[in-house]
Amino acid sequence: MALHNETAAQPTDPIEGNVEEEEDSFHIAQQQLDRVAGIIHLDANVHDVLRVPKRELTVNFPVTMDTGGTKMFTGFRVQHNTARGPCKGGLRYHPQTSLNEVRALAMWMTWKCGLMNIPFGGSKGGVICDPAQLTVHELEDLTRRYTTEINVLIGPGSDIPAPDMGTNPQIMAWIMDTYSMHLGHSVPAVVTGKPVEIGGSEGRADATGLGVAIIIRETCAKAHVPLQGARVVVQGYGNVGEATSCFIDQQGATVVAVSDVHGGIYNHKGLDISAVSKHLRETGSVTSYPLADPVTNKELLLLDCDVLVPAALQNQITKNNASDVKARIVIEAANGPVTPAAEEILSDKGTVIVPDILANAGGVIVSYFEWVQDLQAFFWSENEVNNKLEGIMVRTFEQVWAKHMQLKTDLRMAAYALGVGRVAQATSIRGIYP
Ligand code: NAD
Repeated sequence: MALHNETAAQPTDPIEGNVEEEEDSFHIAQQQLDRVAGIIHLDANVHDVLRVPKRELTVNFPVTMDTGGTKMFTGFRVQHNTARGPCKGGLRYHPQTSLNEVRALAMWMTWKCGLMNIPFGGSKGGVICDPAQLTVHELEDLTRRYTTEINVLIGPGSDIPAPDMGTNPQIMAWIMDTYSMHLGHSVPAVVTGKPVEIGGSEGRADATGLGVAIIIRETCAKAHVPLQGARVVVQGYGNVGEATSCFIDQQGATVVAVSDVHGGIYNHKGLDISAVSKHLRETGSVTSYPLADPVTNKELLLLDCDVLVPAALQNQITKNNASDVKARIVIEAANGPVTPAAEEILSDKGTVIVPDILANAGGVIVSYFEWVQDLQAFFWSENEVNNKLEGIMVRTFEQVWAKHMQLKTDLRMAAYALGVGRVAQATSIRGIYP
C-alpha cells in the first residue's frame, strides 16, 4: 500500500470543473480540507483520497403528474467516505441543488461524523425539484421512484438517508416503505428521521435545533455574552430554524428576527415564538405575522444582534456583505452559510464563527441513535435521547474549543483537525484495497 508520511503541496484531483467559481460549495469544501491538511500535516496520499467522493450516482427518471403526462427529474446520491462506517447523509429537494452541492454536503457529513465520533462516513442526496410546486401524490411518486433508482446504494449497512432541506419525516417513511417492499420485509434502519410510529426516534424531529441551541449557550458562555436577553436573529424558519428559535427562547434569549424563503420579520423587543409558529402553520409563511416589521432576507443578516443563526442555505454571508454583519457570534445552523472570504472578514473583526459540522450535528447524532434503536428493535425515551445528545454536543464543543486554543486557529479549523484527523487515521489503518 502507498500511504506515506508526507504532506501534499499540490493534491491531484480527478474531478474538474467549477473550481473558478468563488461560491461553488464543493470547491469551498476542498479548499477547507486543503487548509486543514497543512495544519495537521495530513499524509499526501490520504489527502488525495479524502479530496473527492468515493462514489457518485446521477439518476434521471420520469414521474406521472396529476395533470396528466410525465415529467423528467434528476437526482443524485454521493457517498464521500466509508472508512469509519456506513455512509450517513440527508436528502435535499430543492430547485437549485446540483451534483457539486451534493458532493460538498457529503464531504461535510464525513467530517461531521468524524468530529462527533460516531461510526459513519458521509453521504448526501438531492433531487432538483421544488417540493412546494408538487402535489402530495406527485411528491410520493417522485420519492418512491428516486428511492428505487438509488436502491443499489442505500441500506442499513451501506448508506442511510435522512431529512434535509425540502424533505421531512413523511418522505423518509415513503423511502423506508419503498425499500422494504423491494426486500419483502420491513427495514426501518434504512432511513432516519422517520415518524416514531414506524421506528423513528423520540427527539429526532427537533434534534438539530436542540443541538444548535446547546451550542449557542456554550458559545455565549465562552464569549462572555450573557444568554439571558441575548438578541438572536434566525434566517430560515424551517425544521432547524424553528426548533432553534423555540429552544433558545426557552433558555432566556430574545429572538428578534426570523425569516423564510418569502422574507423576514423583526421586532426589537423580541418575537413571541409560539405565536410566530402558529402563524406559520395557519398561513404557510412567517412574513405576514402582525406584531413585527417586515425585513428582507438580505437586511435580516445585517441586523444589530448578539447571535446570528443562518439556518437556510449555503453562501448567505459572502465577501459582499460580511463587513456589514453586526453579530458578535455567528452559528452555522445551515451547511456552508459563510464563505471562506467572508470568514476572513468576520474573523478580522473578532466575530466568533461556530462551524456547521459542530453547530448542526445534533441531527446526525440523534439519527445515529435512531439507527441503533432500529437495529436493536429497542427504543429509548425522549429524556434519554436528549440527555445523550446534550452530553455529546457539550463534550465535542469543549474538545473543539481546546483544539482552537492549542492550535491557535479558528473554530472551523479546530473542528476540522479533529474530524478530518479521525477519518484520516481510519483510512490509513485500513489501508488501500487491493
Ligand atoms: P427546511 O426545508 O425545513 O427549512 C428551510 C427554511 O429556509 C424554510 O423556512 C425556507 O422557507 C427557508 N429558505 C429557503 N430558501 C431560503 C432563502 N433563499 N432565504 C431565506 N430562507 C430560505 O430545511 P432544514 O431541514 O431546516 O434545513 C436548513 C439547513 O440546515 C440546511 O442547510 C440543511 O442542510 C441544514 N441541516 C439540516 C438538518 C436537519 O436535521 N434537517 C441537519 C443538519 C443541517
